[in-house]
Amino acid sequence: MKNDSLILLDQYSRPLSDLRISITDKCNFRCVYCMPKEIFGAGYQYLAKSDLLTYEEIVRLVSIMMNFGVTKVRITGGEPLLRNDVDVLISMLAKNSDLDLTLTTNGAFLTKDKSQSLMESGLKRITVSLDSLDDETFNKLNDVNFSVENVLKGISNASSVGFSPIKINMVVMRSVNLSSVVPMALYFKDKGHIVRFIEYMDVGDTNGWKLDEVVSSAEIISLIGDQAPLEPVQPNYAGEVAKRWKYLDGSGEIGVISSVTQPFCGNCSRLRLSAKGELFTCLFASSGHDISSLLRNQATDQDIADCIASIWKMRNDRYSELRNIKSHDLDRIEMSYIGG
Ligand code: SAM
Ligand code: SF4
Ligand code: SF4
Repeated sequence: MKNDSLILLDQYSRPLSDLRISITDKCNFRCVYCMPKEIFGAGYQYLAKSDLLTYEEIVRLVSIMMNFGVTKVRITGGEPLLRNDVDVLISMLAKNSDLDLTLTTNGAFLTKDKSQSLMESGLKRITVSLDSLDDETFNKLNDVNFSVENVLKGISNASSVGFSPIKINMVVMRSVNLSSVVPMALYFKDKGHIVRFIEYMDVGDTNGWKLDEVVSSAEIISLIGDQAPLEPVQPNYAGEVAKRWKYLDGSGEIGVISSVTQPFCGNCSRLRLSAKGELFTCLFASSGHDISSLLRNQATDQDIADCIASIWKMRNDRYSELRNIKSHDLDRIEMSYIGG
């Protein structure tokens, strides 16, 4: 239970409420905007198994952070379902019924059995990433020849065991999948799922990001709205990352995540935990704060709580708001390392 006297505020009075946990830095896809093949090739050095936080260590950190007001936990990666027993972690975390427990996956391993065990272990919501309905376009992005049909199967498996609504993340790159925006919206329109169109971000140092490739949320809304009229919807809660829009004919809603054109740092209450046990106070951070050495050297819960509190209280990140005025010469951590 949250204790109000322990609520942490950072330098801009933002509370800590949302934790994203990367449980692996590995992935079976090589999305060009995230893990381009040229860098994440055969010789790439991933974390050793012994470096990964154990599930017990993760659960311990989460329970300490819940005292500071963390209510939402998202399991991510890399590809989180590459850790076969992720359901074990979920069931350990789900013992705390106050947690809003979610997972983001590329859908490749979302079989019926896996979906069922995720549901039974206590996962509340699931997000599946899919960037196009057209195989040629999707392959240009995932870069491992993974078919659209297999991701759609994963979505339908998750839906059949009761996950609803399923959120579907689509990153839009102007030269690659702009023409997939309207078909994606129309395909999922009556299915009860929520497609979220994400502006292509300059995360990490390896994806060769260019502003020209970013398609603004305003353009996306206008393209979809021309085919199926939309109106804005109030956010579910203050600080919601995606701006919500619903179809005027009542057939569902979509979301847009405008990290580049309309940054939302002012409400950002997210902390990220890497698979190796470093805390990152911003998606665009150049370095993290090691917490694993405390976990592995007999530190007490109070020591760990003090460390987290001091990290959050010092936090002054607002990278997206500064993007246009700041030089880009700092090294940034890769998204596959700290999770989206
Ligand atoms: N592998 C899982 C997946 O793809 O769903 C989880 C990890 S992935 C890093 C989490 C989310 O980040 C995905 O929806 C992905 O599309 C998004 N993402 C990765 N790189 C991005 C970028 N450069 N710009 C915007 N979104 C990005
Ligand atoms: Fe893997 Fe997800 Fe990154 Fe694609 S976005 S490379 S699926 S971690
Ligand atoms: Fe939060 Fe950093 Fe993204 Fe701003 S740029 S919204 S501070 S993660």
